[in-house]
Amino acid sequence: MEEFTLMPLPYDRSALRPVISARTLEFHHGKHHKAYVDRLNKLVAGTPYEHLPLEAIVRKAAGDAAAKKIFNNAGQIWNHDFFWLSMKPGGGGQPGGALMARIMHDFTSFELFGDLFVRTAVEHFGSGWAWLSAAADGGLKVSATPDAQSPLLDNLRPLLCCDLWEHAYYLDYQNDREGFVHDFLGRLANWTRASEIFDKAAPAVTAGKVSRAG
Ligand code: MN
Repeated sequence: MEEFTLMPLPYDRSALRPVISARTLEFHHGKHHKAYVDRLNKLVAGTPYEHLPLEAIVRKAAGDAAAKKIFNNAGQIWNHDFFWLSMKPGGGGQPGGALMARIMHDFTSFELFGDLFVRTAVEHFGSGWAWLSAAADGGLKVSATPDAQSPLLDNLRPLLCCDLWEHAYYLDYQNDREGFVHDFLGRLANWTRASEIFDKAAPAVTAGKVSRAG
């Protein structure tokens, strides 16, 4: 069978310092993320999930009470792959183009969007993820999901995510989740990639008006 493999980090382990240390990435990517991959490969062997692509496993297992472990591990792999790509060295700042126009339309200003993203992350109880996603009509949504859950299951297209599990920030920020998410957004967020996804998935905003398909 063809096994899932650990997605290599798209940058050097020390490239996200000082927000995320090389030590954090060593454990977070090399131990936590890798463990989800190893476990999923064992769990799907000999099941109907064995030859499905990762996103299909997440969607199918979400509705299968007997596949809770498969869902948790597949969801965590999808979310981590997306998280690594949600960051880049020298990231942060603000997006441009259609995504920025839509942020202004939906949240009034980039600052208010940022406040909402950080507050949503801080108020999320326990482990999980903070997301910026786009609905089918292009509308943006800030949300948090518990554990391995995903906005994919709410028919949303994720644009950006931040890992809220303590393993993501405890070595660098201890209990300061707010500080971590604030710095993720301000110094690491990969708006180039978020914009690319948005441009493919969403209708355009022109002259302050949103053109809705259908
Ligand atoms: Mn994690």
